Amino acid sequence: MLLGLSKIIDCPGASVSFTTSVDLSDLQYGNTYPVTESVQAEGTVRNTAGVLVMTGAVRTTIHGVCDRCASDFHRDVEISIDVVLVTELANEENEDEWVFPLEGDSADLDDIVRTVFVLNMDSKLLCKPDCKGLCCRCGKNLNQESCTCQKELDPRFAALKQLLEK
Ligand SMILES: [Zn+2]
Ligand SMILES: [Zn+2]
Repeated sequence: MLLGLSKIIDCPGASVSFTTSVDLSDLQYGNTYPVTESVQAEGTVRNTAGVLVMTGAVRTTIHGVCDRCASDFHRDVEISIDVVLVTELANEENEDEWVFPLEGDSADLDDIVRTVFVLNMDSKLLCKPDCKGLCCRCGKNLNQESCTCQKELDPRFAALKQLLEK
C-alpha cells in the first residue's frame, strides 16, 4: 500500500496515520515459511521540523520450527517502526537512522514493513529467545526436563582445576 504524504510534506507539525496489513508468507527461514499470518502495521508519519518521521508497530504471530529444540511453536512478534522518509537517498548523512526513499510523495508501506520485519528478525528461528535446546548427548529437550549428562569441562577450566588441586 502507498501512503500519500502530499498533505504533510510541506507542513511542519502535520501528521498522517496509517494501518495496513502485509503478506510476508514468502519469507523463508531455513526450510520453513513461518510468517503464515498477515502482518499488521500501524503508525504515524509526522513532519518534524521538515523531516518526515515514521513511528509505529508491526505485529504478527509466527509459526515455526525451533532451530535449537526442533519443536513447533508459535510466537507473537511485535517490532517498533522508527524510520525517516526522504525524497531522495542523497548521501550518507543519516548512517545511524533507517532511511527510506519516497515514491513520489508517497511512502511504500509494504516495502518499509517488510524491511523493518526482516532486519529485526533473528537469523535463527527460536521458540523463545532463551531456548535451552536439546542435550547433545541424550537428546532430551532441556526446556522440558533436565538431564544428568555431565557438561563437558572447558579444557582451560580443567587445567585451572588441576592447578588448584595441587
Ligand atoms: Zn526451542
Ligand atoms: Zn543429556
